[in-house]
Amino acid sequence: MVQPGTELKLDFFPGAKAPPSGLAILKSLELVPRSAITAALPRAEDMQPMGQIRRITVHHTGFPDPWLADDVNATGYHLVDILTLHTDPAGRNWADFGYHYAVDRMGRIWQLRDLRFQGAHVKNHNTHNAGIVVLGNFDLQQPPGTQVTALAALLNFMLSAYDNLQIHTHQQLADQPTSCPGRHLQTWMDQTFGGTAAKGYS
Ligand SMILES: [Zn+2]
Repeated sequence: MVQPGTELKLDFFPGAKAPPSGLAILKSLELVPRSAITAALPRAEDMQPMGQIRRITVHHTGFPDPWLADDVNATGYHLVDILTLHTDPAGRNWADFGYHYAVDRMGRIWQLRDLRFQGAHVKNHNTHNAGIVVLGNFDLQQPPGTQVTALAALLNFMLSAYDNLQIHTHQQLADQPTSCPGRHLQTWMDQTFGGTAAKGYS
């Protein structure tokens, strides 16, 4: 397992220009590199460059059952299942994870798709859009404090590091109705990032 220092952590965020307050947040994040999940490389030839990051979209996994595992290995295997779901040629057949980051129940932040590449997480709205998935079904369960604290830290770091960044939830951006990121996480997002027009929440 890589033991990330601040320099390596900044490698997770191409083009990031964080002020000292942002770097202090970054130091607090427990980042797990994609290489800890899988040795399988993404199909880079099928991915588009991200270019400038202009928005972040927050999702939940939204599987039919609540996700309750805290264990690092169980979480890693869960993410391998999601990778298979996203890349299976008989299924979605995407080049890699659809999302860029996952936030687990213990507050770990897992790198999924390299942020240098466009994701596959909001149909027709993936350009310049970083996708963060929060593990759980928040129509059925409440996110624990550790999880939303880490989500807030990740979002606040990125707000400090990129200019003119907008934050959305999936249901705010989707062309088709969706409950994603689930009603409990939507409420938390509204309470935490709502009303902050300067930060672009819409
Ligand atoms: Zn979603």
